[in-house]
Amino acid sequence: MARPVRYNLSGESNLKLVKEGPEGLEGEGFFATGLEKVVGLARKNSIWPLPFATSCCGIEFMATMAAHYDLGRFGAERVGFSPRQCDLLMVMGTIAKKMGPVVKQVYLQMAEPRWVLAMGACASSGGIFDSYSVLQGIDQIIPVDVYVPGCPPRPEAVLDGILKVQSLVGNESLRRRSGPRYKELMESYGIL
Ligand code: SF4
Repeated sequence: MARPVRYNLSGESNLKLVKEGPEGLEGEGFFATGLEKVVGLARKNSIWPLPFATSCCGIEFMATMAAHYDLGRFGAERVGFSPRQCDLLMVMGTIAKKMGPVVKQVYLQMAEPRWVLAMGACASSGGIFDSYSVLQGIDQIIPVDVYVPGCPPRPEAVLDGILKVQSLVGNESLRRRSGPRYKELMESYGIL
């Protein structure tokens, strides 16, 4: 027997809204909310990550992207390798001091608004490599929004980090990046 086809046009539906909409005022036939909330909702559910992977944490990220953990559930399955089209730089792995300027250049090539996630102990703090050649955390060269601890972090921890980024993205004021505090932050990294 053929399965009945159900359309989500009217009446009771077996489909559920996965993501809730922004807060607002609603009544019969209308819904009103703020522009900032709509932009935040759209941005946070369409993050394009740029994976900058240099070592083992990158392998863990591959597991996070694969079918079992499926980062695509969060609107972030479109991993890009062109900084100009991505808005979340995910640095994963040991970053040697020689590699530092390359990470910074990739960051600078990304358009605003951009966010940064440091995945794992190495990207966050140099990890076990307390040596002359390893950068002791990428926040020495670029601002970091979310740190994910672990060596390597499990995919669940990476997903948690992405959710934290989503929360920052969704709640960010549209004026933040043109404000004096953000300018000050950029200047502290020599970015004008
Ligand atoms: S944090 Fe651990 S797993 Fe990740 S890159 Fe460093 S050594 Fe490898």
